[in-house]
Amino acid sequence: MLREPDGTPSRVTLTLPGGRSLRAYIWTAQVGRVPLLLLDSDVEDNAPGERDVTDRLYGGGSEHRLLQEMLLGIGGVRAVRTYCRLTGHAEPEVFHTNEGHAGFLGLERIRELVEQGADFDAALESVRAGAVFTTHTPVPAGIDRFEAALVARHFGEGGELSGIDVERVLALGREDYPGGEPNLFNMAVMGLRLAQRANGVSTLHGAVSREMFAGLWPGFDAEDVPIASVTNGVHAPTWVAPEVLRLGARQIGLARAEDALTVGGSERWDSVADISDADIWELRRTLREQLVEEVRERLRASWRERGAGTAELGWIDGVLDPDVLTIGFARRVPSYKRLTLMLRDRERLTSLLLHPERPIQIVVAGKAHPADDSGKRLVQELVRFADDPRVRHRVVFLPDYGMAMAQKLYPGCDVWLNNPLRPLEACGTSGMKAALNGCLNLSVLDGWWDEWYDPDFGWAIPTADGAATNEDRRDDLEAAALYDLLAQRVAPRFYDRGAGGLPGRWIEMVRRTLAGLGPKVLAGRMVREYVERLYAPAAEAHRALDPVAARELAVWKARVRAAWPAVAVDHVEAVSDGPLNGTAELGATLSLRVSVTLGELDPSDVEVQVVTGRVDGADRLTRTVAFPLKATGAPGLDGRRLYEGPLTLDRTGPFGYTVRILPSHRLLAGGAELGLVAVPSEATGEAAGVLMR
Ligand SMILES: *Cc1c(COP(=O)(O)O)cnc(C)c1O
Repeated sequence: MLREPDGTPSRVTLTLPGGRSLRAYIWTAQVGRVPLLLLDSDVEDNAPGERDVTDRLYGGGSEHRLLQEMLLGIGGVRAVRTYCRLTGHAEPEVFHTNEGHAGFLGLERIRELVEQGADFDAALESVRAGAVFTTHTPVPAGIDRFEAALVARHFGEGGELSGIDVERVLALGREDYPGGEPNLFNMAVMGLRLAQRANGVSTLHGAVSREMFAGLWPGFDAEDVPIASVTNGVHAPTWVAPEVLRLGARQIGLARAEDALTVGGSERWDSVADISDADIWELRRTLREQLVEEVRERLRASWRERGAGTAELGWIDGVLDPDVLTIGFARRVPSYKRLTLMLRDRERLTSLLLHPERPIQIVVAGKAHPADDSGKRLVQELVRFADDPRVRHRVVFLPDYGMAMAQKLYPGCDVWLNNPLRPLEACGTSGMKAALNGCLNLSVLDGWWDEWYDPDFGWAIPTADGAATNEDRRDDLEAAALYDLLAQRVAPRFYDRGAGGLPGRWIEMVRRTLAGLGPKVLAGRMVREYVERLYAPAAEAHRALDPVAARELAVWKARVRAAWPAVAVDHVEAVSDGPLNGTAELGATLSLRVSVTLGELDPSDVEVQVVTGRVDGADRLTRTVAFPLKATGAPGLDGRRLYEGPLTLDRTGPFGYTVRILPSHRLLAGGAELGLVAVPSEATGEAAGVLMR
């Protein structure tokens, strides 16, 4: 517990409506080199309601949840400040929130700056510059939303952040876009508005998030929405089995093998290619055998707990076979993960399990949230199937999926199965942990697998997300595809034995999985990307925004927002040397001449761009590239300004262009930041054109 110099416990205090206070102690844990601060509301001085704020993670009702998030966000910043004061640790420059849960920390940082004399808008700019927001799920239930009235009651006069106008707070979380609920306060929306930089957690999830939050950047196509992506990674030293590390160490020495897990680098992983088939297969056999032992032990314990006597449990010695193709599947049980998809056609599954030459065995682990009744029903369904004496030696359900179990489970499986409803799996990480141990993936192309799938690393379960009109039909189609893959591809390859009884093609896939996916799925790779693409730019942006610059940026934004309705693209003309006739040839250069109205704004406030790209079937530009055009000459008598630039047709295929005006300032992270854009109206004539078909 963190203590003041006089020995009394440090605490943070939040002011609640009705003269109440919420106090919390600060606990610290050292995670590697990183101090982890934990807040605990179990403080004697708290009233009973406040004392229970940190008593559970989910299921406490919305006011309980709001208080948790106020404590996490506002109390969190105060705890960090306290920790830095007491230990001399450097103050953080960049704040990164994972989902909206800790999002109120941005408000607390604004309060700090307002207290030091900044106005709200300048403080907001400074806070945004030093903030990174990661959206972590496209599942709506994963995003906290509160009644705006509930939030209003907790802020402003008599509550927290009393120096800040409640309306400004509410505006940050308001869903004031088409399809939004204006009476709700959305924590992810606030998170995006309080951070200058944002990302999703896989390439696909980045794209899904840009669609999902496009309403916050009106006027922009989803692909221009400023949400990047950094694909998650896993902590290899935790997830690589000791046997795997040992084999790597035999190959390249322990120090380099350990570096391969942390620093990464494909050259360190390439040496997997030199490990012999026999050694790889022996490793796989050892890991599978250990899993079989582990499963039997856990099963025995779980049956005893269900009241079975030792004499009845003899069958458990025959559960699983260390030489049978082993498929692993482990999930927390939110419905989009489809724990029971494999049970869609029980006879088909049973025939795969009991196949006379090429049997499979399945280990399923799961954990339903105590408040999730439908999740619990799915678990029961699986348990009932796995209890059937016909198949119980080939399919096992392990309750209480947790890290200790997972560490045994991933390495021991030959195939890791994942069948979420695409695209709801933001990233998924269990398949990465499995791959690090030479386990092949069999998964719907969702999350990380959509990005890094390769036939050398496993199999893609075809999805019916476009074709199927209803979920039942979709489940039928995708389950059938799963059975087909298992029967026709996966099992035949595993049992295809060559010289010395070894499955050469399978072993080659294991090798390629290790060498190809190993260096990619590492947490070290992920952290490096966060540092280079998000943390370092955010730290730089934050340093650039001293109080004077922050004020200047805030004033500039307000001026641009006010003047924007008058900004327009009036006329666009593409001039070529020869006749154009609506089409042009590869290599031709056109001159674009664009006339714009900037109203109260100066050319230095904007960038006039030509955007070129491919034209898709719906006549929309895709895979676009933007180039700035140059202002030429003084404004005309009507106030219009002329912009010009070349347009070279350097790509074949359907190709088009358009023109747009964006706000431009050296302290913006990108052109879409303000959500302001002016494009040619229909009446502008040659506003946008398809130049080649
Ligand atoms: C890795 C892991 C998860 C998350 O796995 P996903 O593939 O992201 O669903 C959940 N629980 C435990 C115990 C894990 O180790």
